[in-house]
Amino acid sequence: MSPFSATNNLSGTETLHIHLRLSQYREETSPPVSMPLPPATTPVPQPVFMPGMSHAAESPAPAPAPSAIPTRPKDDETTDDKNQDPSSPATSLPRLRLHVQDVAHPGSSIFLSSVNAATVLRSSIDSIHAHLYSQPPSSPPPTRSVTLVLRDMDGVAYTTGSDLDPDHKEIHFSLRYISSIAPSSRQSAEIRGVLLHELVHCYQWNGRGRAPGGLIEGVADWVRLRCDLAPPHWSREQVPAKWDVGYQGTAYFLEYLEDRFGKGTIRRMNEKLRKERYEEKAFWTELVGGPVEQLFEDYKKTLLKGGQKD
Ligand SMILES: [Zn+2]
Repeated sequence: MSPFSATNNLSGTETLHIHLRLSQYREETSPPVSMPLPPATTPVPQPVFMPGMSHAAESPAPAPAPSAIPTRPKDDETTDDKNQDPSSPATSLPRLRLHVQDVAHPGSSIFLSSVNAATVLRSSIDSIHAHLYSQPPSSPPPTRSVTLVLRDMDGVAYTTGSDLDPDHKEIHFSLRYISSIAPSSRQSAEIRGVLLHELVHCYQWNGRGRAPGGLIEGVADWVRLRCDLAPPHWSREQVPAKWDVGYQGTAYFLEYLEDRFGKGTIRRMNEKLRKERYEEKAFWTELVGGPVEQLFEDYKKTLLKGGQKD
């Protein structure tokens, strides 16, 4: 081949010439390199191009080593292709992150010593899928990442979409609350229970935003209940003021519906909240054949009967 026969006869300077051409080519492929110098352009784009600068800094480095020739461009191409983890497509697990805002806080060491941070989010998401999305499989919301933020704040925890994109979720969990969990034997279960509740919010449907907040909170605590992570102060016997009081009050009502209408009722309810806008009367009649107020009256009767037996 001509390139090889040519290089056999080439002097070192010609080899070097080839190398310089490669370097030039690489600079052309990263256009911002020469841009930051002339400040004639508007200052705004410069931060956007800043990450490119680190690439540019790498470019001149190979030039001083005039070693063997043409393999480098291919190497660069493959490193530019970001390899996917082959294990990821099976379960569409989002990117999971942990952000500990204050490692010196007592709550941080309690959290890190009570749960396996590397697996607790994943196993919680698996549980949510098992209760809300299995048999037949349906589609969870397109949550693309979950960032767990441990920070010192009032309250227990909350979940929100990120500033940039609602598909990127943030769970904020109070270090102050974590450090207050007592007795210490409760720490692991309470942390896992709160995380599970918040993760349900990352994966449940809401009837196009029309489902009552109490129902949303009730579903989250229902999953917690089903995963045997109900805290000891929850009481099945307590009669809630209304069906959508939220949290454990609604969770036990949902448990009653699951028992009465069969396994998978709450999963079907979640699926219905995915497919359509929540309109109370039609929603419950189509789901379980009657208005929710009537079901709630039936539920309260079973609680009162149970109370009389005791
Ligand atoms: Zn909640």
